[in-house]
Amino acid sequence: MAVRICPHCKTEISAPEAAARSNDMECPKCGTRLEVAPGSRTISTLCGLAAGAITWHLSSGSTSDLGAVLPTLYAFLAFGIVSPLVLMFTANLRNAPAAPVPEPAHAPASAGHGPGDHGGGHH
Ligand SMILES: [Zn+2]
Repeated sequence: MAVRICPHCKTEISAPEAAARSNDMECPKCGTRLEVAPGSRTISTLCGLAAGAITWHLSSGSTSDLGAVLPTLYAFLAFGIVSPLVLMFTANLRNAPAAPVPEPAHAPASAGHGPGDHGGGHH
């Protein structure tokens, strides 16, 4: 079982949380932005694709009336189920790079376009 802990404060992150919010996640304790390391997501995607391909191959051998549709459906389902599961078990967390810095609301007066512009529409 992979360890999903905040690299900052060692708080453990639940697996479903890590899988569901792998793009944008915050440590519940210290608020550090976290993300699933790209390698984990690649592995989960590859496993999902493999599961889908295997499922498609197996189910395409059937000779039911829905034989043309079901393999694709099964493959899709297999991918949708396996991929997040693998991500849950393989996810390693790391610090998210460079959190987007919001425009400072009260920037220093480098621009200096007119005094007393405190009442303008909020930026
Ligand atoms: Zn933390």
